[in-house]
Amino acid sequence: MLEKVIFLKYGELSTKKNNINFFLKQLESNIKFILDSEDIILYDCGRMFIYPKNDFQSTLRKLQNVFGIHEINIAYKSLDRSLDALEDNVINLLKDREFTTFKVEVKRSDKNYEYDSMNLRKIIGSYILKHTNNKKVDVNNPEIIVNIEIRKKEVLIYFDKVKGIGGYPVSSLGKGLLMLSGGIDSPVAGYLAMKRGIKIEAIYFESPPHTSQNAKDKVVELARLLSIYNNDIKLHVINFTNIQEAIYKNIPHDYLITIMRRMMYRISAIVAAKVNAKVLINGESIGQVASQTLTSMKVINEVVKIPVIRPVACFDKLEIINLAKKIGTYETSILPYEDCCTIFVPKHPVINPLREKCLEYEKLINYEDLIYESIKNKEVIHIKNEESNTYSDYL
Ligand code: ATP
Ligand code: MG
Repeated sequence: MLEKVIFLKYGELSTKKNNINFFLKQLESNIKFILDSEDIILYDCGRMFIYPKNDFQSTLRKLQNVFGIHEINIAYKSLDRSLDALEDNVINLLKDREFTTFKVEVKRSDKNYEYDSMNLRKIIGSYILKHTNNKKVDVNNPEIIVNIEIRKKEVLIYFDKVKGIGGYPVSSLGKGLLMLSGGIDSPVAGYLAMKRGIKIEAIYFESPPHTSQNAKDKVVELARLLSIYNNDIKLHVINFTNIQEAIYKNIPHDYLITIMRRMMYRISAIVAAKVNAKVLINGESIGQVASQTLTSMKVINEVVKIPVIRPVACFDKLEIINLAKKIGTYETSILPYEDCCTIFVPKHPVINPLREKCLEYEKLINYEDLIYESIKNKEVIHIKNEESNTYSDYL
């Protein structure tokens, strides 16, 4: 009797020698979160096995969105470890498959098994040649690899694997706060941060009535798309209207963006501390716009102590767009709803802002009170990862 089972390979995680159990525990808990409650996860000698209760395909699809999984293997498990049973099983499984060339790979984690890996490879290879027609062994470029793994209590036979998305399990490195706009860059930045094991919450600055409900809905949808990789997301929505209007009325227009972004950073740092996020994450990319020159970034960054991670800082726009398409956020990002940054854009934003000028201009507005108000009135939208068909093949 063969039982179909999924098992996982961890890739990068395998380098975590002493800490690997910590990462695997997190991975298991993330997987539990997305699978049906009746699916069974068994952890045995370094391998994670998943026995889907109902829909095999949908389980596979969900696993393809879990960071920390490098490869998803679909295997057939037999409790009968005798050579006769193994030979029969291999031939039966190969019956329905189209191929001419093959090779056999054997892994023997039970070193007491009566045949060693090399012998078993030869025995099974010869058996396949004898019991099939016109097949050939090709060790370099076979159409099919017959993988056999001899374990203490069972034998696994497998041919098929699906790419996982790699990285570290989300949450294993703690939490970060993503500054999420409706643009292309910040969702990609969030994805890359999650890939490094950071669980994200998101913060969005809106300026009604200058920005619309559509613009907000778009950000909620982007957060939902990111939640597929993050299990769930809390989106903190900050009403930025009073701050933005005060800046617009009182501050020379070439410094609008610089001061506005200093305010966003200040608010984000306070919210991050409240939700226990250790870093801010944003979609800034060096040189993309005036506020992303090195001088601008320095003058803006200096209002906060919390580290700021910019995963796409060194990507060019085309690379970011390609990644946005792969992770499924691009189509939403290009919907044409205005962002609060774009509404108050000056004709000639300063490219090399001066810290002293920022400090002087900021005295013209009562920003501490405005920041306090905006945080006090913030709205939190909790988005749960619902069953989704979007998945990526990006490694
Ligand atoms: P685009 O893809 O058009 O460049 P963007 O979202 O990257 O859009 P930028 O003006 O380049 O827009 O902003 C740089 C970064 O600042 C964003 O990636 C995002 O992290 C953050 N940001 C900008 N506007 C907002 C906002 N309204 N709410 C939250 N974060 C924002
Ligand atoms: Mg940008």
